[in-house]
Amino acid sequence: DNACSFSIMQRAKNDNLIQVNSVNPRDFSKDKHKKVDDTPYGGGAGMLMQAQPVYDAHKAVCEERGKKIRTVYVTPQGTVFNQQMAVELANEEDLIILCGHYEGIDERVLEEVVTDYVSIGDYVLTGGELPVMVMIDAISRMVPGVLNNDVSAETETFHNDLLEYPQYTRPEVWHEKSVPE
Ligand code: SAM
Repeated sequence: DNACSFSIMQRAKNDNLIQVNSVNPRDFSKDKHKKVDDTPYGGGAGMLMQAQPVYDAHKAVCEERGKKIRTVYVTPQGTVFNQQMAVELANEEDLIILCGHYEGIDERVLEEVVTDYVSIGDYVLTGGELPVMVMIDAISRMVPGVLNNDVSAETETFHNDLLEYPQYTRPEVWHEKSVPE
């Protein structure tokens, strides 16, 4: 939530246009040391997040909202995120973005809670925290009212698969280059 507490995102939160809450699966761990990971069956490198804490954290959020909620798991194996997806996801009243860590999450809980698998690009990061932040930012600015000027998103890069035109600000002449007519 702190990572969204500046500039346009902070204003959107103040105006109640968006709300960002984080839920920590560790708070739902039944282990006395609040452990949420274990070694994968069949060996292999690294640790996996266990099904139970993720499932219970997800269930708690759905119960609090009183409904099933569209749930995106950020994973390098997913469909690559783009502007069109940001616009589509901005229509959801509620959205859960599930963030993996270590080697990922036990497949069985993913099968039960995840509706969409989304990647932010074809490379592997250590955790889902940055992908989640990227998605929250891109989705939030597509929520009506979040951008000062509603029209600005319509001339921006990726709208209708086009790129935005070059732009200039004062002074009119800089390094002997004039702003085009
Ligand atoms: N073992 C997984 C694999 O090979 O597909 C990679 C796990 S990665 C080290 C740990 C976590 O980071 C993932 O569970 C996912 O949540 C997140 N992550 C890493 N790269 C990502 C990407 N490009 N897009 C979205 N999430 C990513």
